[in-house]
Amino acid sequence: MLEVSFELFPPKTEGGIEKLKEVCTALNTFQPSYYSVTFGAAGSTQERTTETILQLQQNSLSTAPHISCIGMKKSTLRSLLALYQSHHIRRLVVLRGDQPDNIPILPSDFHYAHELVKFIRDETGQHFYIEVAAYPEFHPQTQHPLADIENLKRKIDAGANGAITQYFFNIDAYEQFMEMCATAHIRAPITPGIMPIFNFEKLIRFSALCGAEIPLWLRKRLNIYQDDQDSMVKMGIEIVTRLCEKLIQSNVPGLHFYTLNQVHPTDEIVKRTIEFHSKAC
Ligand code: FAD
Repeated sequence: MLEVSFELFPPKTEGGIEKLKEVCTALNTFQPSYYSVTFGAAGSTQERTTETILQLQQNSLSTAPHISCIGMKKSTLRSLLALYQSHHIRRLVVLRGDQPDNIPILPSDFHYAHELVKFIRDETGQHFYIEVAAYPEFHPQTQHPLADIENLKRKIDAGANGAITQYFFNIDAYEQFMEMCATAHIRAPITPGIMPIFNFEKLIRFSALCGAEIPLWLRKRLNIYQDDQDSMVKMGIEIVTRLCEKLIQSNVPGLHFYTLNQVHPTDEIVKRTIEFHSKAC
């Protein structure tokens, strides 16, 4: 069976959580391994992550809170880990995070994700399955591609069990990256992060920030439907499903979908990909 998981972000309003539960009910059809919830991404509040996680756990959903270094003190992290352990949460996504532009620099006891991973392992032993981030097109701030691979190795050596990638649209990026990981003796599972195409302008803007490439062919094809959202989403489904099918043929450990808290178009891509997987395997 194909392992799928879904990323959500914490809703800003109380009403938003009810809507999010409906999104999860719809996505549950695909029996995801877990739902991860981002932490302070793009300047959102960190507390809402915990609230969202606890609400989803109450609905018997398997969850994975993200945790980042931004503003994180050891004492706060200890309490957060204890809270998650008491709610039987067994999985975390551990990141450095990015300092949001709109708030002053927060003092933190951690600078890089590997320090956070080590602290969590030291404090909680093997309780959590820990995922970290990986970058097939390399992290935008890295000094050198090999330094980025070394950094991933440092995170695995510090105790991470696996990694989820930044999204990409060019399968060569993932395959080349996996070859570099094998050369560096990184054997942990690396799950591709999949970004469905929702909106052309937002995708271009966000990709520039996070260092994900939109290949020229894709940019030009999306441009055809700049003023026709429905056709763009339909074409995006075809393109992203094709990417998922190729990844399955590369024997990926699973697929992690950036849902942006929407059922569609993720549902259609997952449905088609599961059908492909059951025929192929
Ligand atoms: P790290 O692994 O710590 O690396 C960051 C950079 O520092 C890299 O360039 C690395 O090569 C370099 N580096 C590492 N160690 C050293 C060292 N000792 N000396 C010098 N350089 C070093 N952000 C959020 O804020 N909240 C989220 O919930 C969130 N979820 C994400 C989920 C996924 C799957 C992914 C891929 C990203 C997510 N992000 C999130 C974004 C992420 O926080 C940013 O990409 C961030 O800039 C890097 O985080 P990291 O964990 O990869 O950092």
